[in-house]
Amino acid sequence: MPTKKVAIIGAGPVGLAAAAHVLERGMTPIVLEAGPEAGHSIRQWQHVQLFSPWEYNVDKAAARLLEPTGWNSPDPAIYPTGTELLERYIEPLATKTALRDVIRTSSRVTAVGRVGFDKAKTRGREAAPFEIRYQNGKGPEALRADAVIDVSGAWSSPNPAGSGGLTAIGEPEAAAQISYGMPDVLGKERARFAGKTVAVLGAGHSAIGTLIDLATLAQQVPGTRPIWLLRGTNPAKAFGGGANDKLVARGELGTHFAAIVASGQVLVETGFPVTTISQSDGRLRIATSSACCGRSIVADELVVATGFRPDLSFLGEIRLRLDPAIEAPVALAPLIDPNEHSCGTVRPHGARELTQDDPGFYLAGMKSYGRAPTFLMITGYEQVRSIAADLAGDREAAERVELELPETGVCNRGGLEGGVLAGCCGGPAPASVEACCAADASAKAAGKSGCGCS
Ligand SMILES: Cc1cc2nc3c(=O)[nH]c(=O)nc-3n(C[C@H](O)[C@H](O)[C@H](O)COP(=O)(O)OP(=O)(O)OC[C@H]3O[C@@H](n4cnc5c(N)ncnc54)[C@H](O)[C@@H]3O)c2cc1C
Repeated sequence: MPTKKVAIIGAGPVGLAAAAHVLERGMTPIVLEAGPEAGHSIRQWQHVQLFSPWEYNVDKAAARLLEPTGWNSPDPAIYPTGTELLERYIEPLATKTALRDVIRTSSRVTAVGRVGFDKAKTRGREAAPFEIRYQNGKGPEALRADAVIDVSGAWSSPNPAGSGGLTAIGEPEAAAQISYGMPDVLGKERARFAGKTVAVLGAGHSAIGTLIDLATLAQQVPGTRPIWLLRGTNPAKAFGGGANDKLVARGELGTHFAAIVASGQVLVETGFPVTTISQSDGRLRIATSSACCGRSIVADELVVATGFRPDLSFLGEIRLRLDPAIEAPVALAPLIDPNEHSCGTVRPHGARELTQDDPGFYLAGMKSYGRAPTFLMITGYEQVRSIAADLAGDREAAERVELELPETGVCNRGGLEGGVLAGCCGGPAPASVEACCAADASAKAAGKSGCGCS
């Protein structure tokens, strides 16, 4: 019997883990990666310190492939940067193990379908192999496979600045002064931001991390002015779960940022859904025109950190069943819907939730979360373990739950709700300090009257 051929779209951490599990199950993986090297998306944010320690960043099947190569597994308690994640894990995995022979770099997938079956054609469809078209600079290429795991992430399709999900009016025209995601403010893009007024739009970890870096830059280069633009009205919601976050570094990030905000190093504009961006005298005028209170600010640069959305453009011939709001597989979406909960306590899930109406096609990794923001690598590793088991016909292993995920400590539902909604930020204050929350305690320790929470 020929072995099953499994096409894997994307050589990010979850794509490589998928290839390791597929290989371990005796099947043949082929990984198509758009970038020139594995881990291409991580290379765009490699200056960032991860908030998950090594314990959560290494896939078990990948570690088993690495062990015989003389790989030294990193200390599980240490938090790597993106660069360290690449150098100590992704690169050796992609270049020193059997995966080396199955990764095709500079190969961007442009379309996926089923041979001889357009999307509308049903009878016999399940038996048809998949056809994956890709571009590698040498002309159009096509590959046939028995199954496809799309782990192409979402990094290259960031959400726009516009508050309604559409680009803000004038956003494309101002592109030269707008960055998306997490620019390297203290490193290679320092000159772009030093001494400038920089507005950062968003309330997630990327926005917070960029604002912390800008506050550091402001101490080094006079004239640097960070402005935080928030669509919502409660900045405390962005400060996270503090000491309650099971990922300590993630909790500390929010608490540290709360103290920076409390000390006035960042100008905060709340209730600022961006509608229009215009240019005058080389500067940006960023405006909100909400019904009650239209206003604008002027900045030299805008960083848009409003999250990501999946690129579904090359899946037009695949029968997908996605949640219309979250754009995640329908069985997964209710578990991660940010309208409903933000704990990060998604229950482990795998093949059953991720399979699509086209049998043999799966979404996994960051892409499987659609527009939801709480994805962790370790969630993806569990997803692809289960998918590989499913493809190998091992239903028992595919269904088995092998993962307990760390909570953020900030839940819209459950124990902390009252505290967070009342304006407490960064989680509870240490027992020994008289303060309403962790950020309040930090502000008081810095000689301020408090963080302003109620
Ligand atoms: C700034 C930042 C910090 C993060 N920090 C953490 C953290 O501390 N801990 C944690 O667990 N998670 C973290 N995450 C979330 C997430 O775990 C990472 O984004 C992780 O890289 C996702 O892995 P992935 O393999 O699903 O996708 P990606 O790493 O995005 O990899 C997808 C790959 O697919 C390729 N690709 C895209 N389109 C195509 C195509 N059409 N054809 C072929 N290849 C394609 C890309 O080039 C890329 O190499 C962070 C995310 C960001 C953005």
